[in-house]
This record gives sequence, C-alpha cells and structure tokens, in this order.
Amino acid sequence: MITKCTTCSKELSGRGKSNLCQRCRARVLMVDRWSPKIETDVVLKHLDSDVTAWLKNEVTKSKSSLSVMISSIIEDAYHEEFELCNGKL
Ligand SMILES: [Zn+2]
Repeated sequence: MITKCTTCSKELSGRGKSNLCQRCRARVLMVDRWSPKIETDVVLKHLDSDVTAWLKNEVTKSKSSLSVMISSIIEDAYHEEFELCNGKL
C-alpha cells in the first residue's frame, strides 16, 4: 500500500505516523510556531505606538506573553461590562 502526503501527494516512505511528508510536516510545525507571533503582530499594528510600548512594558513586568496579556485585558473588559449590565443585582 502506498501512502501519499495529504498536502502535496508525494509518496511517503511509510515510517511516518502522520499523513504528511517530512517537508510538509516541517512547514506545518513552522506555521504552528509562528502563527501566535504573527497574530500579536497584527494586533500591535492596530495600536498606537505608545499603547504598544505600554503593553510591551506590562508584558515584561508580568513576565508573561503578549497574547496572555491581551487575553487578560479583554477578559477584564468583558467582566467589567458584564458587571455593569448586572449592576442592579
Ligand atoms: Zn508533502
């Protein structure tokens, strides 16, 4: 039985567990590793440079990552809004 790479249809040598050839697997790994970075770069592009500087400073202070920091800020905003909506309780 000949197994082919699901991405480029190259014949696989057979030992690999995935359905990707070595080259396609390497590309997937690279994309996986870089996509979070690319996403935060896109986010930063939408921010003023002083906001970016503040955010990076916050990340450095908390020793976390940019995506964690952004997530926690969004979460704070969400909960703030949620509490305001339920202010009467
Ligand atoms: Zn391939």
